Amino acid sequence: MKIQNYINGKFEDPIKGGYIDNYNPSIGEIYGQIPNSSKEDVEKAFEAAANAFPSWSNTTLATRSKILSKIAELIKGKLDFLAEAESKDNGKPISLAKAIDIPRAAANFQFYANAITQFSSEAHESVGLNAVNFTLRQPIGVVGCISPWNLPLYLFTWKIAPAIAAGNCVVAKPSEITPMTAYLLGEICNEAGLPKGVLNIVHGLGTSTGQAIVEHPNIKAISFTGGTKTGAHIARVAAPMFKKLSLELGGKNPNIIFADCDYEKMLETTVRSSFANQGQICLCGSRILVEEKIYEKFKKDFIKKVSKLKVGNPSEENTDIGALVSREHLEKVKSYIDIAEQENAKILFGGNKVEIKNFENGYYLQPTIIEVADNNCRLNQEEVFGPVVTIMSFKTDEEALYLANDVKYGLSATIWTNNLNRTMQFSKQLHTGIVWVNTWLMRDLRTPFGGAKDSGVGREGGFEALRFFTEPKNVCISYE
Ligand code: NAD
Repeated sequence: MKIQNYINGKFEDPIKGGYIDNYNPSIGEIYGQIPNSSKEDVEKAFEAAANAFPSWSNTTLATRSKILSKIAELIKGKLDFLAEAESKDNGKPISLAKAIDIPRAAANFQFYANAITQFSSEAHESVGLNAVNFTLRQPIGVVGCISPWNLPLYLFTWKIAPAIAAGNCVVAKPSEITPMTAYLLGEICNEAGLPKGVLNIVHGLGTSTGQAIVEHPNIKAISFTGGTKTGAHIARVAAPMFKKLSLELGGKNPNIIFADCDYEKMLETTVRSSFANQGQICLCGSRILVEEKIYEKFKKDFIKKVSKLKVGNPSEENTDIGALVSREHLEKVKSYIDIAEQENAKILFGGNKVEIKNFENGYYLQPTIIEVADNNCRLNQEEVFGPVVTIMSFKTDEEALYLANDVKYGLSATIWTNNLNRTMQFSKQLHTGIVWVNTWLMRDLRTPFGGAKDSGVGREGGFEALRFFTEPKNVCISYE
């Protein structure tokens, strides 16, 4: 299947540059083509967005909200169709796409359909000076949204929904590895009555199409989710042009388990936080730190539970772990498993590719548990972004906190404990953007979402995203 760019409400071939192959990771075969868009396509998308902006930014909140709600409703109505497309494009289990990815994409639009009607700005009366100040929050204009492959429609819409709710027009690029549901979104937006040019979707490689969006002199804000290295590059390109930037980057998140936790709940959740979506979620707890007292028991129970996970064809409902997203990514993840020995680490479970009958060329890997001795090893310091977790023990709270923070990333952390004082001390002292206590990935879309340190700059979610996608202007009125 050949997909096209979505510009000014129409589906179009790239102006030049041709097409790139798109793979189905569950069988390791090409199943479609996507535009290899050039600067010219980005320019065309920009012009469509710039033309749509005066009218869209003056469209009432009630109308914007209604259109966003309609998009949400249409996504919900196409749940099975979109989930199948997502699973085929990404390799994720169909059950996950149905339960999480697609419902969340709908929720993103529904949430911002509501949020925009409640978004307000401040007024300050300058008492004694006969003046009043208020803040106008105006849409920025044309903004760029660039998203990764791990949660394709989920993260693509997490940017687009607040951007258009706030009155901006968008030039967006999904990952070239998982373009399908973004393509299908164009059709949905037309059906929902989104005016042409408000959203424009350009497909292609990061280094050309993505780069052209970031370099465009009149795309004044970039919302990016992806790898830390790409984020640093984007920051270097965008900084001299003084663009507004939101960067959601990589993670190496600690999952800290104390002996006083609710053990069964912890065990169940830890299997998910380690291996959901083949471990390809920026929030996965890839470093498991366990209090020494329960370390041996945890190790035994965890291995037993993980050994029961079914690796298999993503389109079968009972599959727990599908295919990794690409051959290159599979090789990268495997290369980390291969360094375990050099790092004095021990593979406790998994570590091998899996051959699925009739799907022999798919990119399957066993869930893998590696015991490490030293937090400074590469396995504990670098983002693997696959079905690989490390485990190590600690003795005291101080040691656990030190180990948790001793990494360049700072996206999220999970703590398992029933001790209130410890909960508060860790919540305050963990250098992360998110702390989960006795849970994992429980999301309330009103909360600020993002990372500290090398995990990014800025926050998405709730009113934070609406603030990012608007420019605050102070108006000071003097009166007699
Ligand atoms: P990536 O950085 O390779 O690509 C992300 C997007 O950026 C893609 O659309 C890509 O085409 C584009 N891109 C690449 N180079 C570009 C350039 N020079 N200019 C503009 N755009 C460019 O990341 P990925 O491999 O797709 O995704 C995995 C990474 O994303 C992991 O590191 C993961 O932790 C991170 N991630 C972070 C979050 C978060 O919320 N913090 C969420 C999901 C994924």
